[in-house]
Amino acid sequence: MKFVVKLSTLLASVALGLTPAFGEVNASELTLTNVEGPGKRVVAYVTSWSDVMPSAYDMTNVNYAFGHVNDTFNGVTISNPERLRKITSLKRENPQLQVQLSIGGWGSGRFSEMAANPSLRKEFAADCRRIVEEYNLDGIDIDWEYPTSNAAGISSSPADTENFTFLMKDLREALPKPNLLTLASVHNANYIDFAAILPYVDFVNIMSYDMATPPYHHSPLYASEICGENSAENAVKSHIKAGVPPNMLTLGIPFYGRGKGYYNNFVDYKDIVIKENCELHWDSVAQAPYITDDSGILVLGYDTPQSITLKCEFIRNEGLLGAMYWDYAGDIPDAELRKTVADNLLHKGYPADYASAPRFNALIYYSDMVEEAHRQFAEQAIGFIHKLSYGEGFTYSVTTSLAPYTDKLGEFDIVIALNNMPHEAKEREAFENYMRSGGGWMGFHAAGYNDGGTHWEWFNEFLGAGKFYCNTWPPQPALLEVKREDHAVTKNLPVSFVAPSCEWYQWQQSPVDNPDVDVLLSLSPKNYPIGIKDIIYYGEFPVVWTNRNYRMIYLNIGHGDEEFSDATQNLLLVNSLRWIVSGCLKKQKQ
Ligand code: ZN
Repeated sequence: MKFVVKLSTLLASVALGLTPAFGEVNASELTLTNVEGPGKRVVAYVTSWSDVMPSAYDMTNVNYAFGHVNDTFNGVTISNPERLRKITSLKRENPQLQVQLSIGGWGSGRFSEMAANPSLRKEFAADCRRIVEEYNLDGIDIDWEYPTSNAAGISSSPADTENFTFLMKDLREALPKPNLLTLASVHNANYIDFAAILPYVDFVNIMSYDMATPPYHHSPLYASEICGENSAENAVKSHIKAGVPPNMLTLGIPFYGRGKGYYNNFVDYKDIVIKENCELHWDSVAQAPYITDDSGILVLGYDTPQSITLKCEFIRNEGLLGAMYWDYAGDIPDAELRKTVADNLLHKGYPADYASAPRFNALIYYSDMVEEAHRQFAEQAIGFIHKLSYGEGFTYSVTTSLAPYTDKLGEFDIVIALNNMPHEAKEREAFENYMRSGGGWMGFHAAGYNDGGTHWEWFNEFLGAGKFYCNTWPPQPALLEVKREDHAVTKNLPVSFVAPSCEWYQWQQSPVDNPDVDVLLSLSPKNYPIGIKDIIYYGEFPVVWTNRNYRMIYLNIGHGDEEFSDATQNLLLVNSLRWIVSGCLKKQKQ
């Protein structure tokens, strides 16, 4: 159904005259989308040695850690079986919850001997089945770290990789679907013949953590100079290269840091503090936070709600199955990290507004009669929004003129203005009426450019700013600071980050001085002086703001072809769209 709607929108859009970049999108690409929308998995490791009782709704799957291969190599022992029974009782509260026993873990051995012997292997598989039945489990997760490796002080053999495949085959025979059979895999996808095991397993949890120790980050999203060459992105690539499709992969997220010097080797998130002489930083390339000592060396790499939100965006964008985290009890009692994962992947909290609500309809409004850098941005933005529409439940049309829409702007929940604003009186009047009656607007860069020649007084009141005053030149990256951390648009952003190259505007009067305006992000004064040809030494550079009298958000982003190169900025755009639209949908329901 969704597919049909998308196609018809595509055809309608084609009729309106599209940019070449968008015209290249074809129907077959639409079939690659995550059309099921929600339905991501969140796998939480819950340990036998913790006494934290999980909530039944933070995740879709619990992996109980751990069971072990028994002393006689033909069965399973469970650590703290009473706790496992308590965990499975959560299924009474949430019947959708699935609980698996995870067998293995670092230093847990006897796999090699068991897997090498066909009869021991079959007995082991039969005992797994007994346990699944006895404990009312949904399946088994195997955490053999790692076949053919004795790094954890366990026995190993060169035949382990092949025997691992036999083990998976025997386990699947003992535990037919819908029982789950999953495994934990090291970040570089070594040790396992994925092509051989795929027919037997449901999904693969990537341990995209412990990838390095200080002075490198152990779990950055992307590789960077500071954070090192291992990254969650590369871990996913390694698994795809090994033959695992993205929708069979969960991305592992650590609820702990790896430290050195001022910090212990392992520190739970709930115990992390910024110590004296240490400083918190954000790596804009790795999209990760880290702490340095007084000589500027990384002494702790870890994850925060900000970096985890970006990982969740990555999971959605790459079409992965979901997230896995180790471990549940590492979070603070307020469940900051667990809520971040659940909100972003299970559509709890604010995303429910658009996930379960009627489909929304966007009008993308750009111009091809503007300077090259503004047209480039618009083309890329249309591609970005098109991809975003996958699984987000919205349709859109693209236009370079509001003239055909003056009588029907009300059919749209949001107008996305890419470096364009109406110039004809009739279009302006229609737009003003639309906004006054509760329409939504997300305006980019030159969409807020309103100088002495614009002659549209209402627009100043709407924008919440005076006239365009000056700009930096040439375009440059700049450090942005979040001004309102409590706002839905900024709540998951780092407090500051380097935004891609843009031409930065100032207005007179500045929206900062308008009591109806909430400025959400501004250029940091640390950028001054900024500009090379046109240099600006002081003044307010508000970048993102909203006028509370309208359902609007303005973003001074939109110059050139680098604007979509930064995951944090991309998240800012997505947050902004969701925030405006969730307001529109609330209005629809009233
Ligand atoms: Zn510009």
